[in-house]
Amino acid sequence: MNRQQLIALCEAAGAKPVHAEKLLAYIFRRGIHDPDKMPDIPGELRGFLKKHSQPLSIEVVAEQQAKDGTRKLLLTMPDGKNIETVLIPGTGRLTQCISTQVGCAIGCKFCLTATAGLTRNLIAAEMVAQVQTAQELSENKVRNLVLMGMGEPLHNFDEVAQFIRIAADPLGMAFSPRRITLSTAGLVPGIYRMIEEKLPCSLAVSLNATTDEARSRIMPINRRYPIAKLLQAIRDYIAAHGRKRVLIEYVLLAGVNDTVEDAERLCGMLRDIDTTVNLLPLNVSPGSQFKTPTDASVTRFRSILSDAGFVAVVRKSRGQDISAACGQLKAEQAA
Ligand code: SF4
Repeated sequence: MNRQQLIALCEAAGAKPVHAEKLLAYIFRRGIHDPDKMPDIPGELRGFLKKHSQPLSIEVVAEQQAKDGTRKLLLTMPDGKNIETVLIPGTGRLTQCISTQVGCAIGCKFCLTATAGLTRNLIAAEMVAQVQTAQELSENKVRNLVLMGMGEPLHNFDEVAQFIRIAADPLGMAFSPRRITLSTAGLVPGIYRMIEEKLPCSLAVSLNATTDEARSRIMPINRRYPIAKLLQAIRDYIAAHGRKRVLIEYVLLAGVNDTVEDAERLCGMLRDIDTTVNLLPLNVSPGSQFKTPTDASVTRFRSILSDAGFVAVVRKSRGQDISAACGQLKAEQAA
């Protein structure tokens, strides 16, 4: 429940709104879920909570740690379904990659999660539980959340929006909205809903190609929402937020989208968009039809963007020795 829902719940139980604020701090900031461990909550409200709530138990069933400190956790949800979350270390802080669905319906051709299709949406509580479980296992604080794990966040809009509101509530998990990034494969109506509902987070868009023909080949979603519509949605998002930067992600696939022509076209496409471009050389998964580009072609691609005045950053794959791309630990466990 978010703050407004907890206030309504407290009213229904005959308690004051201030108790909703205390519940927010107990549940989301301190990770205390047992009403008996909330001494300053009135007894009647504790009784009400015990009657009307149920604990959500998720279990860590596998864990891998890479040489660079990246940790990948395989979690089992209450119904036995597995999802992954990844913890990426920075200096004194962690970035956590959150899953929003069990599987994914979007079908990007370079993605292992896509191969199994969509099983179900996660609920907001299961996203909160990913953060709290990871935090319990880590000495450093989780500071950044990226909704980039299994699933397409905008395909599960309501639960993702609920999670983001809880995560950004200063009385609850208290993540700065600047430190929550929602990454989409390009569900255009979802971007407009983000604008309408003023979702407190940043937007990243996985673009990955510079022609509709190439993008439709690797990301079938492009047939529904082609590049021109997607770029317009990004411009509208930036305009609605008053110059809020959008992150463009571009997974480089050798010989598919990493040519000089692609880099030049990308510069043209993004010329009127306030953006940072993250270049991600493909983290190859077993059985992939694609290959990682050479260092030389990655450098060439980045230089073309930089020379044209863009902020372009090459993101080396973290946790390569544990195949940290989403879906890989789940696939290994199932094998
Ligand atoms: S890359 Fe993301 S949106 Fe595309 S299939 Fe994989 S999980 Fe889904």
